[in-house]
Amino acid sequence: MFYWRSSTHTDAPGGPGAVELRFTGRSAGRGTGPYAGLNLGGHVGDDAGDVEDNRRALAVELGLPRDRVVFMNQVHGTDVVEVDGPWVGEPPAVDAVVTRAPDLAVAVLVADCVPVLLHDATAGVLGAVHSGRPGMLAGIVGHAVTAMRDLGAHSITATVGPSVCGRCYEVPEEMARAAAATTPAAAARSWAGTPAIDVAAGVVEQLAEAGVGVRWVAGCTREEPDLYSYRRDGRTGRFAGVALRRSVTA
Ligand SMILES: [Zn+2]
Repeated sequence: MFYWRSSTHTDAPGGPGAVELRFTGRSAGRGTGPYAGLNLGGHVGDDAGDVEDNRRALAVELGLPRDRVVFMNQVHGTDVVEVDGPWVGEPPAVDAVVTRAPDLAVAVLVADCVPVLLHDATAGVLGAVHSGRPGMLAGIVGHAVTAMRDLGAHSITATVGPSVCGRCYEVPEEMARAAAATTPAAAARSWAGTPAIDVAAGVVEQLAEAGVGVRWVAGCTREEPDLYSYRRDGRTGRFAGVALRRSVTA
């Protein structure tokens, strides 16, 4: 039994195989206590066996060998790496991966940060990006889009998954001002009317500036119990955005 919160398929007539873009939710999985549900994040204090069981369940659901679902070691940095198969050794410390490889699922883990799945179904190029506030300030989605174009992508669409909304992301005034100076769309007010940041709106603005079409998947992590939220719970799990291109089948 497995649970997808959101799932879309995109066929590319005459091109490579269909692209699948999905986000997980909590309503399945082996996690208990603060990790209750389908926690896919390692290094967050959860039982390593439970996390690996959940990751294995994800691979089974995708119909892939476990090692063909690749996770990053996310560090709130700006590096992008191309991946063409299972990692050899530990995953690299990056916050964006791009790939041309079929039957390889690239995954981004979040619990309030913005998960972005990028695809050009015709060119057969995919990307997965982790953009929290530092990633937005550094413009990591733009770096990932450039990396995809270097691999032959022309017409890129971004699917932006659930994240903490602007009303739920109160910050000190100086921090809000700095974010708005970099990316005006990130300016927000909290539910209490205090300075806040809408990271997703900032990321969407950056994607639009890069000439990328955007599809936004509904959901505020802090407000919806089916999503992990660091802001709400502190100690908690991570849900995933997963992008995959199937090899062409006869
Ligand atoms: Zn919210």
